[in-house]
Amino acid sequence: MQRLSVKRSKRMRRDREFSHAFARLDFFGFSYYADGMRCLMLMLVLLMPLTSAGAELRVASLHPLLSEMARRVGGEHVEVVDLFPRNGELHRFEPTVHELASAVNCRFVLACGKGVEPYLTALRESLASTPSQVLELGDAVPDVMTPDGSAVDPHWWNAPENMKRAAISLTLALVQAMPQRAEAIWSRLAQYAQSMDALTREAHLALATVPQEQRALATAHAAMCHFCAAFRLQPLVVQGVAAESEGDLRSVAKLIRDLRSRGVRCVYSEMREAPRFLQNVAESAGAELGVLIMDGVAPEQPSYETIFRSNLCAVCKSLLPVPGDSR
Ligand SMILES: [Zn+2]
Repeated sequence: MQRLSVKRSKRMRRDREFSHAFARLDFFGFSYYADGMRCLMLMLVLLMPLTSAGAELRVASLHPLLSEMARRVGGEHVEVVDLFPRNGELHRFEPTVHELASAVNCRFVLACGKGVEPYLTALRESLASTPSQVLELGDAVPDVMTPDGSAVDPHWWNAPENMKRAAISLTLALVQAMPQRAEAIWSRLAQYAQSMDALTREAHLALATVPQEQRALATAHAAMCHFCAAFRLQPLVVQGVAAESEGDLRSVAKLIRDLRSRGVRCVYSEMREAPRFLQNVAESAGAELGVLIMDGVAPEQPSYETIFRSNLCAVCKSLLPVPGDSR
């Protein structure tokens, strides 16, 4: 009970901080602090041990999109250490002892949260004697359940609005650690938030003409539920959250009927991933296979905007009406 009330009070405090931050972003542009935020900043300065003027901060990151966010929001004041390897697979990755050693001198370790990193408890324990603090940025994002209601979709980065919320959470932490850099960091956050808002508008516009009966997005694993919630699409999921379940025959048969009845033209899988099972399902449903970068990880690791636009373009291709197609 006490734990619940502490949790609730933490959530209420976080919500207050968020509303202040959103107020500033919405009404005051890049250079002015709302009174509430000024008070919050003052409190943070008083409560936190001061770092030396002009101090740089090291931040470790467990996901490339969080690395990019930290670089964009933190600018030259933040050095980002990527723990996620190039060509790594999100649902199989676990940092090695060697990789963790580079996190020890980092003030923050950025994690997605929402169950993406099942090793976080062990990681926190291993960092307990260091100044490093694990930040689960997904905590700032409302949960979206998978279509069968059995789990939370952890792929929150697939909606730009969520990236904005996570960036605000990161900003609060960075400013707490470097109050002397607050103005520059808030200014960068404002630019980042504008970019995310632009992507949201772009996606709403691109998907505006998709008829209601075709607003369904079929994916291999439950990775686009946040995207679907943000842009009024219904997610249809072939496998589980981490693309490891093939389901029983009855549910697969139902899924194929659903895909057919919704006129789904494409079933999407993660990059480099097109298992035989998925090919069979798509073929039985009369759909093609497509590719989306759902885990936010790509070999060349392009920017968030590039990944999002690539996904949006692929989704539009199969959802927008085709002249002469009676499906
Ligand atoms: Zn995934």
